[in-house]
Amino acid sequence: MARKPFIAGNWKMNMTAESGKQLIQELKPLVKEAKCDIALCVPAILIPAMVKAAKGSKIKIGAQNVHFAENGAYTGEISATMLKEYGVKYVIIGHSERRQYFGETNETVNRRTLAALKNDLCPIVCIGETLEDRESGETEKVLTRQLEIGLAGVEDIKKLVIAYEPVWAIGTGKTATDEQAQETIKFIRKKLGKMFCVKDANRVRIQYGGSMNAANCKGLMAQPDIDGGLIGGASLKKDFATIVNYNK
Ligand code: PEP
Repeated sequence: MARKPFIAGNWKMNMTAESGKQLIQELKPLVKEAKCDIALCVPAILIPAMVKAAKGSKIKIGAQNVHFAENGAYTGEISATMLKEYGVKYVIIGHSERRQYFGETNETVNRRTLAALKNDLCPIVCIGETLEDRESGETEKVLTRQLEIGLAGVEDIKKLVIAYEPVWAIGTGKTATDEQAQETIKFIRKKLGKMFCVKDANRVRIQYGGSMNAANCKGLMAQPDIDGGLIGGASLKKDFATIVNYNK
């Protein structure tokens, strides 16, 4: 079965209720004919307003993190149940900025992923190597650890999405070449085949993320193992619609 392409935006800590609403209104007619799944992962406080703004369109609203506990004394955190209550479908887990600035580890990625799946949220699990890892030939080793620890205990791999985001390409304007992205994502799929089974690995959607934009999306999306994109900067403007319509 062919994998349905999936383009997701990550607004990070950007936008307000007003500017977010305005962008979604602009995007709605532009993505009407899209053949892929579409999500915008917005700051938690904007979720209710953006779910309302996106109603009746192909755009689903996602979150940028989820806590692993159902509830309890975790000041500042948000549970999967809370996200579900407001109509969230997808949640980014283990973004490199969370790993870099907020102490996220492969172990906490794993706990968040299991909690999201238990509550029928679709995790977008981010993995990726740093420039230092790549230059020292450690890319595959780092990705293997991220997958083995991050996805431990997952029963149905098809219920999640992997975003391969080389850290050196995020927000830097430096995209991986089509070939580099394809080669690494192919490796990830092969690894998933060994960890789970080849049939399921062939059905998992794997996105590329890292300075993907209106100009380079076509080439990346043409690669056989790349099933979509996780888009930071370019999801804050109308360009996002061009990426969604990459096949037009
Ligand atoms: C991201 O934040 O996941 C990302 C890929 O950002 P950018 O597109 O801005 O590089």
